[in-house]
Amino acid sequence: MATLLPGGKAKVRGSRDPFGPRVVSGELQCEAHMTCQRCLQPVTVRLEGSVRWGLVFSETEMQSLDKQLDPILIEEGQLLLRQAIEDELVLLLPIMPMHDSCDNGWTPDPEPGDVSEKESPFAVLASLKNEQGS
Ligand SMILES: [Zn+2]
Repeated sequence: MATLLPGGKAKVRGSRDPFGPRVVSGELQCEAHMTCQRCLQPVTVRLEGSVRWGLVFSETEMQSLDKQLDPILIEEGQLLLRQAIEDELVLLLPIMPMHDSCDNGWTPDPEPGDVSEKESPFAVLASLKNEQGS
């Protein structure tokens, strides 16, 4: 689970070669809240990436698009820029988000109850062994 934080920046610009596809390129920056896979506490990760989208208007155009470009299908004449940017940011999310250092003042909860009075599992094993031996 990740939450994209507001305040992300996207700088995109469009261009078009006379005989080429319409291209939108730019840089994306955003921060997201995720869960640290080491200490399971929230961690803020920084997402940065650049995009180079080629706008296509049909599946056929998508297939003939320059392989250097990521195809973005224009539906009903609209480039769903916000959606496309969000999709791109989701791809940038790390699979294993972690703090640089998990030493953030957080310590695990102590074991519930007083373990000192409980029998140690090794003692139980030892007594089983004795029973078998006799
Ligand atoms: Zn952590």
